[in-house]
Amino acid sequence: MIFDGLVSDLDGVVYRGNEVIPGAPEAIARLRAQGVRVVFCTNQSVTTMAEYVERLNGLGIPADAGDLVTSSTVTAEELERRGHAGARAIVLGGEGLREALRGVGIGVEDEADRADIVVTGLDFELDYSSLRRAALAVRAGASLVATNDDPAYPQPDGLWPGAGSILAALETATGAKAEVMGKPHRPMMEAAARRFEGIERIAVVGDSLHSDLAGARAMGWPGILVLSGVTSREAAELADPQPELVLESIAELERD
Ligand SMILES: [Mg+2]
Repeated sequence: MIFDGLVSDLDGVVYRGNEVIPGAPEAIARLRAQGVRVVFCTNQSVTTMAEYVERLNGLGIPADAGDLVTSSTVTAEELERRGHAGARAIVLGGEGLREALRGVGIGVEDEADRADIVVTGLDFELDYSSLRRAALAVRAGASLVATNDDPAYPQPDGLWPGAGSILAALETATGAKAEVMGKPHRPMMEAAARRFEGIERIAVVGDSLHSDLAGARAMGWPGILVLSGVTSREAAELADPQPELVLESIAELERD
């Protein structure tokens, strides 16, 4: 497949949990040497940008903040574009999300009962009182924004509840419906597109039919499914529509 820009998912593509996918750093280096611009794109909202950059560099994949979009940075970027700098937010999420929102001038108020916006992500510290405060704020008129709606968070011992599970609790509690920023929804796909200025032929590589491949389709970009993450070969064969390409892992990806 010929492409000059590549949107690459991280978990299940470059690494799985704490382990690098064999051959992934070499494949990315090879594609970059052929002139491909690679933008890493992840729905995981907990990790901060600095931690991601350090992690990729530690795997031997040179990267800086311009090479990476996370559902947290996209959420912050989108809220800033809409003029929400200065707004007050109640956040059900981790440091990656909090830092991204503060970075665009949104106040993160953990103990507040009122807010302009309630933002959800993956939150390992979630407790009833934070859920209650968020629900009361939404019922009082705060808009509800979600970094992503992934139901599960894949871990070595199985599927943990994902950001979408936390969002579902809040939606059930309030009857509100969130606007979702992450893959496969438009804000994240368009944020990725903005990082490919002047590049026309863009492909997406990911391990999830529901986020990566659906996001590719939403943009009219070819989707490359890798079987190194959450999707089995059996599930890939049943996918409708079919990905443009199915590979065991990114190590097999060639620009030709
Ligand atoms: Mg993935």
